[in-house]
Parts: sequence; C-alpha cells; structure tokens
Amino acid sequence: MAKKQFKAESKRLLDLMINSIYTHKEIFLREIISNASDAIDKLCYRSLTDETVGMAREDFLIRIEADKDARTLTVRDNGVGMTKEELESNLGVIASSGTRHFRDALAEDEAAGDVDVIGQFGVGFYSAFMVSDKVTVISRAFGEDQAWKWESSGADGYTVTACDKDAVGTDVIMHIKPDADQEEYSAYLESWKLKELVKKYSDYVRWPIHMQVERREWDEKGGEDGKGAYNTVVEDQVVNTMVPIWQRPRDQVSDEDCKAYYKEHFHDTADPVSVIRVNAEGLTSYRAMLFIPSQAPYDYYTRDYQPGLQLYSSGVMIMDKCPDLVPEHFRFVRGVVDSPDLSLNISRELLQHDRQLKIIAGNLEKKIQSELKRLMDEDREKYETFYKAFAPQLKYGVVGDYGMNKDKLQDLLLFHSADKDKLVSLKEYADAMGEDQKKIYYACAETVKRAAALPQAETVKAAGCDMLCLTDDVDAFVMQMLGRYAEKEFCNVTNDDLGLESDQEKKDAEEKAEQSKELLDFVKESLGGAVESVRISHKLKSQPVFLTTEGEVTLEMEKYFQSLPGVPETERIKAKRVLELNGSHPAFGALEKAYREDKPRAARLAMVLLAQAQLIAGLPLDDPAAYTELVCGLF
Ligand code: ADP
Repeated sequence: MAKKQFKAESKRLLDLMINSIYTHKEIFLREIISNASDAIDKLCYRSLTDETVGMAREDFLIRIEADKDARTLTVRDNGVGMTKEELESNLGVIASSGTRHFRDALAEDEAAGDVDVIGQFGVGFYSAFMVSDKVTVISRAFGEDQAWKWESSGADGYTVTACDKDAVGTDVIMHIKPDADQEEYSAYLESWKLKELVKKYSDYVRWPIHMQVERREWDEKGGEDGKGAYNTVVEDQVVNTMVPIWQRPRDQVSDEDCKAYYKEHFHDTADPVSVIRVNAEGLTSYRAMLFIPSQAPYDYYTRDYQPGLQLYSSGVMIMDKCPDLVPEHFRFVRGVVDSPDLSLNISRELLQHDRQLKIIAGNLEKKIQSELKRLMDEDREKYETFYKAFAPQLKYGVVGDYGMNKDKLQDLLLFHSADKDKLVSLKEYADAMGEDQKKIYYACAETVKRAAALPQAETVKAAGCDMLCLTDDVDAFVMQMLGRYAEKEFCNVTNDDLGLESDQEKKDAEEKAEQSKELLDFVKESLGGAVESVRISHKLKSQPVFLTTEGEVTLEMEKYFQSLPGVPETERIKAKRVLELNGSHPAFGALEKAYREDKPRAARLAMVLLAQAQLIAGLPLDDPAAYTELVCGLF
C-alpha cells in the first residue's frame, strides 16, 4: 500500500525528533498522556449532554502497558478517539502555529546543546519518535463502528488502514528503539521507570492512570526450604495522585502538609519560612502555592541555580521552572502555579508572551512582597532567618535594572543599627530620628564592630544620632541608588558632609586650614601621590586622622571592584583618596613642630599618619615591613 507523505513542515519536525540528541527524551510520555487526557475531557464533556456516550465520569481512564518481549509501550485511553480523516489531519500535519518557531528554537537548542526547548514548549505526539522507531495508533472515534490504524516508521510517510477495535478510544503503541550507547531505551519498558515518569510529569492529570506494577512481597512459607522468600506480585495500580495539594480545599491541607510537600518536591532540608496560597477567580483564574525558603540552596548565588515556578495547566505540567512567573529580585521563591486559563494550545507555543501569564506574574509579585512585609512586621525572627539567606538578592534587586524596583524593595531591607545593636528597617530608623536630624547616617566596613569604631561614628553619636553599619559589598551601591528615604538624605559618614557642625566650628576649621595651607601641601607632597588632597577635618573629635574620598567612587566600591575577578590591575577603578587631619589633635601639633624644625622628620610623620588612616579604613598597608622600619626610626 502506498505511503502517504507528511506535510513538509511536519516532516522536518519529525526528522528533528527522530535524530534528536535531546537529553530529556523522557518527556514523550507526558505528551502522549496529555493527549489521552484531552481526549477523555472531550468525551466526558459530551457525556454530560449526550446519553448515547453511555459512560459515567468514573469510567474514564488511561492505561499504560509495557510489553518487554515485543518492546512495545502502549498508552490507551477511552476518550473521544479519531476518525480516519482526523488521524490523517491530526497526525499527518502539525497544526500549531508555534511549530515553525519551535523548530527554529530546537535547531538552535541542538546546536547549543543545553537549553531545554522541548521541555518548555511541549511538542505533542511527534515526541514519541524520540524513543520509538515505529508508532502505531489504533483509534475508534465516538459515534463510529469502524476503527483505523495509523502507522509510521518516521519521515518516509505513514499508512492508514481499517482495523478492529472493541471500544471507543485510542491506543498509541510505541515500538521502543533498541538500546544505544547514549540512551538506554529499554528503561521505558520498566514499570518502575514509567511510574516514576508519571509521578514526575503527570501526577496531577485529572484522570486515573492505571498500570501493572511489580511489587515484592514477603511470603513466610515461601522458598524451597519453606523458610520464607520474596514473591513478585503484579498488581493494577493507579499511579497518579489526580488532585494536587494546591487544588485541595484550604481546610483539608495543614501547614505541615504544605511544608512536607515543599521539602519533598523542592529538595530542601529546612521548612520554608512562609507558604503563600492563592486562589484567584475572575478574568484570570489560577491557583498557586508558593514557598519562601529559609535557607539558600548551595548553588543559589551561582549561574547553576535555575529560578522559576512549576507551571501546570489543568493538571498537566507544562514547565518545571517557568522563570517568567517570578521577578528576578524574588527568584528565591519556589512553588506551583496552576491555571486552566492557559489553554494547552497557547501554552505549548509561546508561553513567554502570554498575556495571562504576565497578569499572574504581576499578582504573584505583589503577594510575595506583602507576605515578606508581613513577616518582617509580625514575625521578625523568622524574617531575619530569611534575610540572612537572601539579603544580597534583595539588595541586588534595588541596584539592578537601574533602580526600577527600589521602591518595592526598600522596605524589605534591614541594616544593623549602631545605637540599638540589632537589625532595623529604614522605616524604624527614620521613625526614631530626632526633629533636628536631617540625614540618615551610615558607615561601611568589614564588620559591624569596625563600622561602629570609625572616628566619624563618634561625631554622629555625640550629636545623638543613630548610624547604620553596613557590611555587605553591595550596600554602598544600595545607598547610592536609594539616595533618600522618607525625604531624608543618606549620608556616608566617611565621605559626605555630616551637616552636624555649628557655624563656629566650621569657621574655626576653615581658619585652621588657611593657617596650615603650607603644611598641608607639604604633607601631600611627602606622600608622593598616594592621596588626591590633604584637609583639616570637620568631622574628627578625638581621633587624629581619617582617610576619605572625593568623587563618585568610595573606598567600599573600590574594594568591591578589586574583588571582581579578571580585571587587570591597571584597569581597576580606584577611589580618589583624601587624608583628613584633626587640627586640634596633639599629633597635629607634633607635625607642625617637626615641619618648623625638622622637615625630613615631618615627612616621616606624614607617612605614619597616612598608614594610620589606612588601617582605620580597613585597608591593607602596601609594605608592612617598610612601615615598621619607619615607625621604629622615629624612636
Ligand atoms: P496538540 O496536542 O498540541 O494539539 P499533538 O501533536 O500532540 O498536538 O496532537 C495532535 C492532535 O491529534 C491533537 O490535537 C488531537 O486532536 C489528536 N490526538 C492526539 N492524541 C489523541 C488521542 N489519544 N485521542 C484523540 N485525539 C488525539
């Protein structure tokens, strides 16, 4: 009998499937089961209004049968079936408009060898050819007596012939390929493997999926000696759960159930700090169950971590990690979204551009944001656990995308308060500010202790103000991006004008600077270009020196840039250093005296002062041995 040819477009896709080196071939089962489930949906719907269907809801089922001798895997359904014409048009042509796009993407995917394109799109029936060298479809449509057999060994075409079939429905018989070096296709004939795949991809298909499953059972009197042995028992099992946890009524699912589900499915050892359940009805209806983890996975801050939520459409898993459902700054959130509104046709094409998906993602972002805020306000201890794991993520969120998300995120941040000696939010800091305090003070250092010990901290504290101690690399950038909070400017105590001096103090410092101009120039020169300028400080109280910067780049940023790998020494961004001296400190007096009486000694003192300033700023000395010699030479 003459073979019929596939339509050109379909043929090319089929070629790709047959020759696929794609590593997730196992998803073929999900595709075939999902078609079976759709076919049952159709007939079940029909049965509501058409008595001749003669079936009750409980009668519908899917059955998976593996025959190791014949090397066939069959997926049977008692759904609506296909007529001869439907077999030809449905399986001979790929109807979906996403095909071309898919094909291009797959070609690229195979070239790149990594992106999970098939996993993302779903490609339907043809995926059976990834694991089979022949596929036979026997189908009898509802309302027909005659059944038809469609058969194809691949791209050279297909045949359709009349055959017998007792009941309405479809059998998809896949003739599994022989094992190859790279792929052990025989696994698809093992009941444990098939059961695993159903659990993984199709657990929540609404119709029962039956299978013969082998189970080992202890027989006390078994064995040749009658002392007991294991028997292999084969039993019919329904291998899917059918009703997912997020679809069950709220009062039937305890917090413990949710946590257990989370740990099992998302491979975490700790309970999440929060479970968010959403049941949205209206223009876009969906259910979601989201989890906020309490610890970061080991690969969280690496490229290996894949963010995204599991996406289901009416019980069929469409995507394991759909990144479009959570914004980048909340990429730590795990969970599931299930929406019947994502019709399978749409979802199988171009999910990313789906409008419904965007609406859902927008709503979820708001839910996550308000849940985090609630935790912060009502359960601070839990929030701090979460914060310890994910603060850098929230902070990257503030500085990323040109600060687009900073307003959403600023109230989720916590910083260490020098005054209260614990973490506080910006709001808490602002609320505790006195009437006269104009700025929000902060200092960056390696540790909280070092920040609090900075010379300027003393000045801020003496003025009765609190100071935030920042210890994360990204913190300086966060403050720069935020600029202000509750109308108050942020002030880096080491760089910015504290705005705390009285007019008299300012005047005194200016006079002192004027008088000491010659000395300051001398100090700068003695330091041989290590600093941009030398000034009399407005900020120092009891300490003799401090190192600060002018321009955009602060010392913290310099440290951060230094830590980036792969940037050559000469191209690293450096801060413009400014040495500030306390004009009323005895050390300054000694410097003045040496300048008058013994210039080489004054130059050495200047170098010692710079080294002191570097140490206080948490910077390493360029040459510790030379420094020791310098100091000892002064004795
Ligand atoms: P999709 O399911 O995305 O439309 P497929 O290639 O998987 O694409 O299937 C093409 C069509 O073949 C389906 O839309 C459906 O009409 C028909 N079909 C596939 N499997 C079955 C089945 N088990 N029972 C009835 N119809 C089926």
